[in-house]
Amino acid sequence: MSETSNRLASQRTAFRRALCLTAIAALVCLVLAPFALAQQPPAPAKASSAPAAEKPLPGLDLSSMDLSADPCTDMYKYACGNFNAHHPIPADQPDVDPFYVLYNVTTQELNGILTKAAAGGPTRSPDEQKIGDFFSACMDTSAIDAAGLKPIQPLLDNIDTANLASPATRAQFAALLGNLQRIGVDAFFGYGEQQDLKDATKQIAFIQQGGLGMPEKDYYLRTGDKDIQLRAQYVAHVAKMLTLAGSSPAQAKIDAANIMTMETALAKASLGVVDMREPEKTYHLQPIDTFMAIAGPSFTDFEDAIHSPRVTEINNSTPDFWPELKNQLNTADLATIKAYLRYQLLTTFARELPHAFDAENFDFYGRILRGQPEQQPRWKRCSNTVNGSIGEALGKVYVDQYFAGDSKAKMLLMVHDIETAMGQDIDQIAWMSPATKARAREKLAAVANKIGYPDKWRDYSKLTIAPTDGLGNEMRANAFENDRQLNKIGKPVDKSEWEMTPPTINAYYDDSMNNINFPAGILQPPFYDRTQDDAVNYGHIGAIIGHELTHGFDDEGRKFDAQGNLNNWWTADDLKNFTTRTDCEVNEYSSFTAVDDVHINGKLTLGENTADNGGLLLAFMAYMQRAKDNHIDTSAKVNGFTGPQRFYIGFAQNWCQNVRPESVREQVLQDPHSPDRFRVNGVIVNQPGFAPAFGCKQGAPMVPANSCRVW
Ligand SMILES: [Zn+2]
Repeated sequence: MSETSNRLASQRTAFRRALCLTAIAALVCLVLAPFALAQQPPAPAKASSAPAAEKPLPGLDLSSMDLSADPCTDMYKYACGNFNAHHPIPADQPDVDPFYVLYNVTTQELNGILTKAAAGGPTRSPDEQKIGDFFSACMDTSAIDAAGLKPIQPLLDNIDTANLASPATRAQFAALLGNLQRIGVDAFFGYGEQQDLKDATKQIAFIQQGGLGMPEKDYYLRTGDKDIQLRAQYVAHVAKMLTLAGSSPAQAKIDAANIMTMETALAKASLGVVDMREPEKTYHLQPIDTFMAIAGPSFTDFEDAIHSPRVTEINNSTPDFWPELKNQLNTADLATIKAYLRYQLLTTFARELPHAFDAENFDFYGRILRGQPEQQPRWKRCSNTVNGSIGEALGKVYVDQYFAGDSKAKMLLMVHDIETAMGQDIDQIAWMSPATKARAREKLAAVANKIGYPDKWRDYSKLTIAPTDGLGNEMRANAFENDRQLNKIGKPVDKSEWEMTPPTINAYYDDSMNNINFPAGILQPPFYDRTQDDAVNYGHIGAIIGHELTHGFDDEGRKFDAQGNLNNWWTADDLKNFTTRTDCEVNEYSSFTAVDDVHINGKLTLGENTADNGGLLLAFMAYMQRAKDNHIDTSAKVNGFTGPQRFYIGFAQNWCQNVRPESVREQVLQDPHSPDRFRVNGVIVNQPGFAPAFGCKQGAPMVPANSCRVW
């Protein structure tokens, strides 16, 4: 699953996505790219509003299985071997998998809601007016083309007059950065709100590295042929965008090369993706005076412009970044800084700019980076935009129309079963002392479960959405969300808040909240299929529940206590035993070759791999206990498979995937999730329940002599 970069995402969405990667808000997702939030740009076309009906995959998908394969040799091939034959990759996708198939269903439903709301009429509720007009304006490419750069001309003018020569102009420059960041432009760094990692009852400000146009630090530093080629393509892309906005090709070429030099220096001063997963490395709470001694007195101008309260302390999460940023601002030529800001502005809003910008933005971030030949149709992208910008207004209507309320009760039962299994697992493990077990139990008991949608919907009444102003809507929605986030600083935490919108096909665990969250979007087939029995559903959504729960106890989550505070609750010996076990997983996954000569990064993916492994183990325990309690004969065959077999097939079919090699490469280099086929076989080899289920012999490829087990 993958989304390109956060180029078109709103600032907060960008942060959230970054947070899925980095732990600064200590948020970990099931998959990195919730399709419902996927970015992307254009096609000049009109709203082809009646797409063919889409169907989700069934919980047990016999057509994807390759029964000629031996599950003991290659479980992925057995469960998913025929998936590719039935699911060619659409030209507008980097891959296809069950998440994508369900995304097509959900997006069609959202499109139906939006098309109806867009048709207008006096009976629309205030939320329907907003989602309908947001959608219409996004779809109106003639108006967007006709407007040209006019909607962002005042910002371009401000950038043009920027200079850093005096304290007064530096203050103006800081305010310009605040204005740009407030509407979603990721210029130079990020600023936002988070729970204090060491006191989860407090909401504080944080500031961190940012502003790179390529996905992360190492894209600027690796020396392989493909890396060098990609950097050249990025520079060419930046030059094209600047040219489209009016620079001469010769000047744009010079500016783009200088931007690359500047971004490379910033990349060198940035933390890499592995370090960003370690909360201690991104937690440096400072009095604001300490921070301003480095950042400069104009920081208050930035705060005012971005609509932040004047804070007294701040988490300076990546402190090594600031000296280099200052150095760049002091030494880079002003023309380069202005060109950089222009590019940032253009790429952020490319989708709402004339077609040539949208197409060029896609060419780099979609075609080149992910190998995707075509963009998604505009109706899908506009549905995503509305969901990403005012998703609770859309989600409210979606839940009313499409969420089967009784799936919530069934989910709660499964969550309870899996939490019970985790309690038993903690009690049984031999390597942990009673003292640490008691703390683990305490944390488990404190996990809050959120299912479906918020109890209290977000209020958008103060946000203005117009039917003919696509770019303005997006800027205002980003600013609205920015203000909502920053307004939390200094206030009590609202634990009922959701970080994902209801239609999102994903799930997450939040370290600071110590809660697991399952949006309505993922409580659908094949992940949860009411026509299937427990075996299949515990394999699918049960393993996902177990995954999120295990995040609270993976290499990152284990550092947070029951209250969500970064606080070591492990004895030294228990921690040593834990690390021996996680090292086993690091080595296991690092040995997998994902594409060409690129291996999985076992350290980057450790938390997700631990969650996958622990999650499946817990789900299996829970399934067997549930079957026992309900007097179900697990040896009885359905569709030719016993209960445990259906359980493992269901699990494996969460991750059937047909994927382009470019997309795998991009994922392995920056995404903390392993590529999908390793999320099957990399996990199956560690499951004690698997060999008995399929009658596999010890020593078979899926039953190696040495396996890993953390939980
Ligand atoms: Zn996860």
